[in-house]
Amino acid sequence: MSTNVTFCYVACWTEDDGIYYCGHQHESIAEAMLCQAPDGGNFIRAYEAGVSRSLDDEEFLEFLRVLPMMPWSSSRWILTYQ
Ligand SMILES: [Zn+2]
Repeated sequence: MSTNVTFCYVACWTEDDGIYYCGHQHESIAEAMLCQAPDGGNFIRAYEAGVSRSLDDEEFLEFLRVLPMMPWSSSRWILTYQ
């Protein structure tokens, strides 16, 4: 991960030996989410000044807002049947 970028989002997943990052520098949560495979083992983390951190409350709300719009989301029915 380059330290030139002061802020970005990354898609992550876990394997037996640790956490892996997608290696991209996504500008938005939605973009990082498109990088995910919906197998339940994926999540988004923020990179700020070279340090990885969990999404804060506001970012998590954005995650939930974008979730039904993802082409892989099983919750798209929420938008369709509201
Ligand atoms: Zn990515």
